[in-house]
Amino acid sequence: MAEILVIEDDKAIQNLLKIALKQENHDVIAVSSAHKGIDYAIKGTVDLVILDLGLPDMDGINVVKTIREFNEKMPIIIVSARGDEQEKIKCLDAGVNDYVEKPFSCAELMARIRATLRYAAAGDIIQNAVFVNGDLKIDFSAHSVFVKDKEVHLTNLEYKLLCVLAHNVGKTLTQNYIITKVWGAGGNDANGLRVFMASIRRKIEKDPYTQELIRTEVGVGYRMNKV
Ligand code: CA
Repeated sequence: MAEILVIEDDKAIQNLLKIALKQENHDVIAVSSAHKGIDYAIKGTVDLVILDLGLPDMDGINVVKTIREFNEKMPIIIVSARGDEQEKIKCLDAGVNDYVEKPFSCAELMARIRATLRYAAAGDIIQNAVFVNGDLKIDFSAHSVFVKDKEVHLTNLEYKLLCVLAHNVGKTLTQNYIITKVWGAGGNDANGLRVFMASIRRKIEKDPYTQELIRTEVGVGYRMNKV
């Protein structure tokens, strides 16, 4: 199915991942050091990276930053024992696609991998002029938004905000990332952002409270789900 690179120095977890990934018909490359991992990630034909944050030769966040310098789109899922919210935010800000805490269930991790690969494929579709996600349609060239083929009127800032979410569909974006993209660094705060999100939800969600399209990750940020 896909070629998955596992960067993990714990042999037991490495083996567990190898078995689980092979059962899903993926090809697996497993390495124990950050430097080897980076080599494979930027030179090889890898489709997705599973990365442990605590590696012997380099901090995991720096691994993410290095891979991102060479490949902005490479899907990266962090698997880490660190349950720290700030750590999670740092990783998301550095551009990881998902974050799974140890101990993890293999079934859950495999589901996240499937979703991340799907989103990565959807990312290619967004290069087109029209973005479709369930009942939502964004025509980028016309700056128009439709729900069930009915045009919805958004303000300029609401439209910009929706586009940032759509361009990163399936990925959790931190509040800071979104604010910097829409208003510029420091141009708004978490409360201001929440007000804009509520307004967009009223316009595009079937039910603003179910968060079917736009999900709040409490304390972290927001994610547009692929529906
Ligand atoms: Ca480790």
